[in-house]
Amino acid sequence: MTDQAVDKSEKGKSDKSDALVTEITPQSEDFSRWYLDVVRRAELADYTPVKGCMAIRPYGYAIWELIQQGLDRRFKETGHVTAYFPLFIPEKRLMREAEHVEGFAPQVAWVTRGGDEDLEERLVVRPTSEVIIGTMYSKWVKSWRDLPVLINQWANVVRWEKVTRPFLRTTEFLWQEGHTAHETADEAQAETMRILALYKDFAEKDLAMPVIDGQKSDSEKFAGASRTYSIEALMGDGRALQAGTSHNLGQNFAKAFEIQFQGRDKSVQHAWTTSWGVSTRLIGGVIMTHGDDSGLILPPRVAPYQVVVVPIPRGNWQETVLPRAREIQADLMRQGVRTTLDARDEYTPGWKFAEWELRGVPLRLEIGPKDIEKSQVVLARRDVRDPRAKLFVPMDGLTPVIVRLLDEIQQGLYDRALRFREDHTQRVTSYEELKAVMEGRPGFVIAGWCGSAKCEAEIKAETQATLRNIPFAGANTAGSCVKCGKPSSGEAWFAKAY
Ligand SMILES: [Zn+2]
Repeated sequence: MTDQAVDKSEKGKSDKSDALVTEITPQSEDFSRWYLDVVRRAELADYTPVKGCMAIRPYGYAIWELIQQGLDRRFKETGHVTAYFPLFIPEKRLMREAEHVEGFAPQVAWVTRGGDEDLEERLVVRPTSEVIIGTMYSKWVKSWRDLPVLINQWANVVRWEKVTRPFLRTTEFLWQEGHTAHETADEAQAETMRILALYKDFAEKDLAMPVIDGQKSDSEKFAGASRTYSIEALMGDGRALQAGTSHNLGQNFAKAFEIQFQGRDKSVQHAWTTSWGVSTRLIGGVIMTHGDDSGLILPPRVAPYQVVVVPIPRGNWQETVLPRAREIQADLMRQGVRTTLDARDEYTPGWKFAEWELRGVPLRLEIGPKDIEKSQVVLARRDVRDPRAKLFVPMDGLTPVIVRLLDEIQQGLYDRALRFREDHTQRVTSYEELKAVMEGRPGFVIAGWCGSAKCEAEIKAETQATLRNIPFAGANTAGSCVKCGKPSSGEAWFAKAY
């Protein structure tokens, strides 16, 4: 009996149950609709009366907290510390770095009044914090002995967006932004690459989301940066998602904000700075990398609940089954397995199965009177849709089995996502081929590129595919530009993107 069959045969006691399974649009019908349905039904986020701004609900925020923990641990391990800077930036400060202003001006929100008085100088609500942090670094850095500065900030930022979608693009969003200052160009470059590798490690190990790491083209780089690097993931609909960026800012911001120090040779020099960030967008990436028609599938490392225990209510279950279920939950929690017990009497087991599947809990543990007689429990994996894959596991030594299964699920999700990406990546040699791929089944396209912004812009205009990045792996494969036919020194990855 499939889980859906259970749902039909054991009608829930609540009105919610009837609509439960049908409330999610199938991916194949409308992926974008599916995404919004999952966000809403899994109670990750909700719309608010503020245009383009979402409320992150507790279940969605719990995922964000786990993302924060996984990243913050890595930041600290690589010598970074945390600080906090103001939400507002004075207008004149923002204007100091010309490219930066030009890049962000169309997206900034202004504060013009405080109380009932017009402000003498308008304030910008930070779209990113290079300006205010650079200003502070100019006060804090005096000597080469003050370097490097390795600071990360967890914060909200505001970018006035016209078209928004929960987690993927919202006017206000949460992120971390690292800002570092160094003595030499080499050190700044090493930091930029260290963080990109850290992001890749986090995305692949914790989010089970394979990513391509590489350098952005000039037209896609951060406003004011010398070089931008990104990690790019492929979503379930074949569109790419920029999942994180790391920028080498050269001395651009140090010159604009006077971050100067006395060097070892006593000369006054400008510092070399970097900045890097990932945001709540990663939650959108997790949803679209792993989810299916039943809803969310969460990698165990970022699942608020890794196991849901569902007692089967037969006979005097509250005296027999429930205490055993509580013990199992306590055992698992002691071993660090995040476990919830759904003992609600007002919902049937079938309803609960569907509900927790929709919320993407990696493992379901069922326990009923018969299981207690046999001293076993029933486990069902969220990542496996075949109900015959249900596992009957002895209660003795249960916790280590579950810990091992969670590791298997984590790895299995990564492997599956990697296979999907490989199946949706094609190398093309002609422009006709590139156009045909973009019109057909979407995904990554690898092609030669001569390095000209004109070719890049024409490809974008004609196929909607943007140059995602020039990956480190394969960057030296010489060939010819897919657009103009001139010799190309390397390859680029193109895709339609979020
Ligand atoms: Zn070209």
